[in-house]
Amino acid sequence: MKKYYVCCDMEGITGISNFKEMETQNAYVSKMMTAEISALCESINRNSTGERSDSIDILVADSHATGTNINHSDLSENARLIRGFPRAQYMAPGIDSSFDAMFIAGHHARAGTLKAGMDHTFSGSAIYSVEVNGSEIGEFELNAGLAGHYKVPVAYVSGDDKFIEQISVYKEKLGFETLTTKEAVARYSAVLEHPKRVYSKIDKAVEKTLREKKWAGKYLTFEYPLKVKITLLNTVKADMAALIPVIKRLDGRTIYFEAPDFVYFYDMFCAITLICWNDR
Ligand SMILES: [Zn+2]
Repeated sequence: MKKYYVCCDMEGITGISNFKEMETQNAYVSKMMTAEISALCESINRNSTGERSDSIDILVADSHATGTNINHSDLSENARLIRGFPRAQYMAPGIDSSFDAMFIAGHHARAGTLKAGMDHTFSGSAIYSVEVNGSEIGEFELNAGLAGHYKVPVAYVSGDDKFIEQISVYKEKLGFETLTTKEAVARYSAVLEHPKRVYSKIDKAVEKTLREKKWAGKYLTFEYPLKVKITLLNTVKADMAALIPVIKRLDGRTIYFEAPDFVYFYDMFCAITLICWNDR
């Protein structure tokens, strides 16, 4: 039995260019996310050599907004879906050492990245930046790091060109394949290829990564304890986050804590984000 985890966000999905259309054209954006994740799951099934699809388990985490974007009926039958919110380890719940690899789909660049589609870090209404052990991280590191905690490699990463450029620093070390879904020209604008062409490229990238398995035995690791510095959007958010007793206030907008491992860090990060959503 092969087990694959698919961690998917929406901002890096082809066909989608801004947050406004996510609010006003919900059926359209859900259709595009479902179609791309469906293409990915079918490609995983097609390219898992020597395995029948009924012996492959794909766990898909719908990890954008409240996790209710993907139409399960349109995914491969062997794809289980994690839907809904709130939940622990929001973007990758249930990941553990039983998985062969993680596929990271539809992701986006960190907050502040130039000309990157819908750049943000976890929550655009709470977080300005996150540093772990002295280096800035985004959602790629958050999810790949959680997988890495369980010694699960990342096999595939997709999103716009600025995001792919940002995470390509890890490509050689971790051995994953990348797939560029669109060319971002501004925060809320992108040049799009026809979706069928993108799905065909997804198939090629999945075929390559499952054939070569350059990621085997490699995963993203961080030295423990993790030293975490989070800069929030404003001072009231830091006032609230600092109510958590283990958190130290460094300055007006910045808080600090140490995490014994990545699961602790992920849980604390989700809790801080949830607390900071309500700042009245
Ligand atoms: Zn998102």
